[in-house]
Amino acid sequence: MELLRQKVLDEGIVLGQGVLKVDSFLNHQMDPFLMREVGREFARLFAESGITKVLTIESSGIAPGIMAALELEVPLIFARKHKSLTLTEDIYVEKVYSFTKQVSNDITVSKKFIAPGERVLIVDDFLANGEAAFGLARIVEQAGASVAGIGIVIEKAFQPGSRLLKEAGYRVESLVRIASLEDGVIAFAEGGEEAAG
Ligand code: 5GP
Repeated sequence: MELLRQKVLDEGIVLGQGVLKVDSFLNHQMDPFLMREVGREFARLFAESGITKVLTIESSGIAPGIMAALELEVPLIFARKHKSLTLTEDIYVEKVYSFTKQVSNDITVSKKFIAPGERVLIVDDFLANGEAAFGLARIVEQAGASVAGIGIVIEKAFQPGSRLLKEAGYRVESLVRIASLEDGVIAFAEGGEEAAG
């Protein structure tokens, strides 16, 4: 996705330890026009997948997730990282290790929002080791629903998440793929969605 690729190049800031900061358009301030295009792209990629719900994780997955859900005309659910006091009903719980925060969180989704047989599109802002995506996929499967695909805004292809998810049988579509952040330089990988479209 050329627009996104350009935004990453213009505004992405490389931090140490392979972390990319994109707080001007995705992780703090959000660019609604870019998010609309991201949503359209996910909807195009998964148009034939029979998606009934989009599932993401708070908070940075919500913007791309809601735009994908809007375009696919289905609801968005976001997994919570902290137990809500109002979440009194039955919940699915999975442990997810956070790459950027280096702590484990229990992520939760209310059982009433995923029914058996649903086809769920998982969306997230970044893919690194795949922890968040695997945790969300386990919740979908606990519910007796199926993961129709995983849509990622920025994949860091130098980390193993994408390979592990594909090996586990999931369809992964990343809108941009980063090959390396070494020496503070953002190098893109071939084979991202933008190469095909
Ligand atoms: P994973 O679970 O695949 O190891 O990491 C993905 C999650 O960690 C995403 O939900 C995202 O919030 C966060 N993350 C991983 N790498 C980065 C990064 O380089 N930059 C930012 N801003 N978030 C990241």
